[in-house]
Amino acid sequence: MKVFKFGGASINTAERIQNAGRILASYKGEKILVIISAMGKTTNALEKVVDAFYEGRKDDALQLFEQVKQSHLTLLKYLVTIQWKAAEDQLRDFFTEVEWLLHDKPVREYDYYYDQVVCCGELLSTSLVSSYFNEAGIRNQWLDVRDIVRTDDNFRDAAIDWEYTRQRVEAQVMPLFAEHDIIITQGFIGATDENESTTLGREGSDFSAAIFANLLDAESQTIWKDVEAVMSADPKEFPDAQPIAALSYREVVEMAYYGAQVIHPKTIKPLQNKNIPLHVRCFLKPELPGTVISQQPVHNLPPIIVLKKSQVLMELSSKDFSFVEDKPIAQLHEIYDQVKIRPNLSQNGAVSLLCCLDDKPDKIEKLALAASAIFDVQLEKNLTLLTIRHYSREKYEELTRGKTVLLMQRTPETVQVLMR
Ligand code: ASP
Ligand code: MG
Repeated sequence: MKVFKFGGASINTAERIQNAGRILASYKGEKILVIISAMGKTTNALEKVVDAFYEGRKDDALQLFEQVKQSHLTLLKYLVTIQWKAAEDQLRDFFTEVEWLLHDKPVREYDYYYDQVVCCGELLSTSLVSSYFNEAGIRNQWLDVRDIVRTDDNFRDAAIDWEYTRQRVEAQVMPLFAEHDIIITQGFIGATDENESTTLGREGSDFSAAIFANLLDAESQTIWKDVEAVMSADPKEFPDAQPIAALSYREVVEMAYYGAQVIHPKTIKPLQNKNIPLHVRCFLKPELPGTVISQQPVHNLPPIIVLKKSQVLMELSSKDFSFVEDKPIAQLHEIYDQVKIRPNLSQNGAVSLLCCLDDKPDKIEKLALAASAIFDVQLEKNLTLLTIRHYSREKYEELTRGKTVLLMQRTPETVQVLMR
């Protein structure tokens, strides 16, 4: 059994949906659980629907949702003819669920509504793609993942109830594979024990795929992306970025930790725990081998570069020249918890402390305000945090040339510099 994940970009046009079908058809006879994201930028569009609804702009919310509806209906008309009526009815059921909600007034917290509305992106995409595949002869069974993946009610960042989910996979998903080779379901979403929809955090469907791979004891997981492979840097920033054929789980976890946007950071653990290899392949060029990520340590990696822009340097100095010791540091960590922010890098000195953070303006403001009770606070914005794994002196010099380095940390494997 294999698990495939198709991201939003791999199904954002009729041609791409047909292309995904060809990829699947080339695995004829294999058992595959397919996780599909919302189409293209649907999740962003649905976020705007929630915002309008929550700000009391009901007509805007309905209008914005209408655009999401139309884009799916248009695509369905183009792709599905014979079973068109049944397929459209299924989409319309999901539309109705959202529209009912939009006609109410918000009385609960934002995050709750977010999940109830945004989850429809993957319900629509999977339902549409499943209908098309069936019509194209790629027989498959559609499954509502909310019947399987149980979470807590921490909306927008829900935590998986592994035990319950395991039982549902055994009771419901495994028997389905006795009758079907391909099961299509949603990533990114789940449900609480009260049947409220939840989401697992943006880009969460890589993680959903890993949950299924783990619980199904899959032989492998494949993420189909628009890049050739995992690259040594973002090719948009670094045209000489190279594809990497093999990586260890450990390397990928480190890369994600430093901010590389390759794979959702939670994805690796469920795979590592069962020693399931993760393939990253290109849906536009399925003949390429892509990257395989596994337990196997990989040596001689090229320098791997991660750039994080919009960074803030916060300098915290003790107010009376006393040493920055355990107590103020513990207080600072409490503030991080309250504000729900984590520094990307920090460095202690005798009477001051430097932290580098993502510039989320409202959080930074709260943090600076709370910290100013203990420290003198100074902020500098518009900085870049550069991380190089497996750095060489030449690479380091090339990438920091002409920049002012404000903070630097180095281990034998990794160098990090905050630059102006
Ligand atoms: N559709 C969701 C998002 O865009 C989840 C995902 O694609 O992984 O964040
Ligand atoms: Mg995505």
